[in-house]
Amino acid sequence: NKSIEFRDIDKVFKGDGIETYALKKINLLLNEGDFVSIIGPSGSGKSTLLSIIGTLDVPSSGEILYGDKTVHQMSNNEIADFRFENIGFIFQQFHLIPTMTALENVMSPLFGRKVTYNKKERAIQVLEQVGLKDKMNSLPSQLSGGQQQRVAIARALVHKPKWLLADEPTGNLDTDTGETVYELLTSLNKSKQCGVILVTHDSILADRANTKVEMRDGEIVSVCQRQPV
Ligand code: ADP
Ligand code: ADP
Repeated sequence: NKSIEFRDIDKVFKGDGIETYALKKINLLLNEGDFVSIIGPSGSGKSTLLSIIGTLDVPSSGEILYGDKTVHQMSNNEIADFRFENIGFIFQQFHLIPTMTALENVMSPLFGRKVTYNKKERAIQVLEQVGLKDKMNSLPSQLSGGQQQRVAIARALVHKPKWLLADEPTGNLDTDTGETVYELLTSLNKSKQCGVILVTHDSILADRANTKVEMRDGEIVSVCQRQPV
């Protein structure tokens, strides 16, 4: 069982004597392999929730279970290993390293890691999957926005994570390019390569997920499960 379960998660940011409750008593069960969207207005806690799912941030209280493990009790090294095995991230800004080629960017998560596969072959394989094998020697500046996001997706997938976490991945792209990127996420999910957790404020995209989580003011206001077609 590789589900992710949030139990009574709070996240409080403290500064200048002010407390902001970014998340309030979040309870949520995400099933392995699901395609989940998280939607809500700006400031509703979507990015905070995604950061905590991805172990980039820690809750102020409550418990998260990954299968039967809690990250709570792990050391920083164990968390880094856990993230490597389980989590790939993509963002609205693609965050590619400008001095590295597409191939080097995709290989970068593997630097210093022991893996059972050939790193370069694996990186080329994922680049091929996102349709950019022929651009592997290009620098990010030589690629369009949609191509850069696809390189970022390849980089997020190169280490075979169980979940791909995407924070407004189409927010910087025009509608058609965004659609291509969204369809890529859908096909990765359908072919059972990874679960997807998509943060968006686009209700049309959010409605296409299998599970739609709606947030407001740090709380989950609804969870909708769509019947598979
Ligand atoms: P969303 O992604 O839905 O726009 P966020 O998760 O970014 O929402 O933010 C939720 C709330 O938490 C907001 O009020 C935001 O200002 C606050 N917040 C988020 N990150 C921090 C931080 N690092 N320090 C202080 N407040 C934060
Ligand atoms: P987006 O919604 O595009 O992800 P956000 O505005 O939610 O962007 O946040 C971007 C980053 O800034 C996040 O890492 C978040 O934690 C941080 N952040 C958001 N609000 C605040 C805040 N009030 N104070 C400090 N950091 C914040």
